[in-house]
Amino acid sequence: MSDRLPGFSTLAVHAGAQPDPTTGARATPIYQTTSFVFNDADHAASLFGLQAFGNIYTRIGNPTNAVLEERVAALEGGTAALAVASGHAAQVVVLQQLLQPGDEFIAARKLYGGSINQFSHAFKSFGWNVVWADSDDIASFERAVTPRTKAIFIESIANPGGSITDIEAISTVARKAGVPLIVDNTLASPYLIRPIDHGADIVVHSLTKFLGGHGNSLGGIIVDAGTFDWSTGGKYPMLSEPRPEYHGIRLQETFGNFAFAIACRVLGLRDLGPALSPFNAFMILTGIETLPLRMQKHCDNAKAVAEFLAGHPAVASVSYAGLASDKYNQLARKYAPKGAGAVFTFSLKGGYDAGVSLVSKLQLFSHLANVGDTRSLVIHPASTTHSQLDDAAKVKSGAGPDVVRLSIGIEDKEDLIADLEQALAG
Ligand SMILES: *Cc1c(COP(=O)(O)O)cnc(C)c1O
Repeated sequence: MSDRLPGFSTLAVHAGAQPDPTTGARATPIYQTTSFVFNDADHAASLFGLQAFGNIYTRIGNPTNAVLEERVAALEGGTAALAVASGHAAQVVVLQQLLQPGDEFIAARKLYGGSINQFSHAFKSFGWNVVWADSDDIASFERAVTPRTKAIFIESIANPGGSITDIEAISTVARKAGVPLIVDNTLASPYLIRPIDHGADIVVHSLTKFLGGHGNSLGGIIVDAGTFDWSTGGKYPMLSEPRPEYHGIRLQETFGNFAFAIACRVLGLRDLGPALSPFNAFMILTGIETLPLRMQKHCDNAKAVAEFLAGHPAVASVSYAGLASDKYNQLARKYAPKGAGAVFTFSLKGGYDAGVSLVSKLQLFSHLANVGDTRSLVIHPASTTHSQLDDAAKVKSGAGPDVVRLSIGIEDKEDLIADLEQALAG
């Protein structure tokens, strides 16, 4: 064996997997079982006491899911990962380890519409208070810090407009405040951006999107960078204080640089319950094998479509960071040199009515609420994903009434452009 470190495409195919030791199966088997037999009573006791690693029950861990966890941790450059049932489940499990009722977290306002809802309503009912900041104004994060701040949450490439976030600048604010930086890397995938290289402490994904990549399976994942010291100042008692349910062990002291991933599993997933089905883990693993190929094609197609739209007389503006004229182009060159992603928005001179009409005339693009599928997708955020926001908040989060969002697939770009051309011709 050479001592070369494997490259990204090699990791996408191999990380975490090996031929099945009992059957020789080369693809990772779907371990479709709820529970696992113990060797003996001592083995059972040591698994329950966290003195040994191993399988107990699929709500806490499963061998198919473990391959997915190891693979995504390798692709993101983290120490460990935990797969869960959806991207939203990942967000709940992460924040449950960090916040006590009455605590605060700071979030960028440019976010997936579902996350805006989850943070504003469900999390509020848990006593976790979101404080909004503007990723175009780094000082707004600094101003939002209080003694109750426990985390900062941003998207690397932000929904819906595909803007690029200055992760390093916000990481500096987080470090100064002594709180972890959580980056939702769903729209970039580790092929385009690895947030841990830029100072993220925790990365979350909706695996439902580009990682799974085929619009067929929900999933989420949490990656621990292993960079944050949870023991300081009693700020993170879930990690630093003795756990009564595990004979008084302290997770940070026992598990060191992967303590956060362990906390998410043995306190979060165990008690909240959003386990990923091993079948979905298998589908998502299969998707990840082609991530580098798909992601490059997604980005190349997106750039061609964005250029076409920017030159069309019915289009008022295009928000795609891959265009040289875009306000986020400098940040795109720094953070995502291989491509600025495949989700972006544009606005029509004809406003709301023109947006609704365009969506109804497109034939190859599917009108639905998802992104990161092999198929090209279209949606009008103001009447759907962002409809719960008032008009001012819609505009602030990049989802004004005249805005249409595209998620560009891996079809032939000429066919995508032809479909948009006929739909825009009216
Ligand atoms: C879809 C999405 C989520 C939520 O993920 P689910 O798998 O649908 O729960 C979170 N963040 C971003 C950026 C997303 O696109």
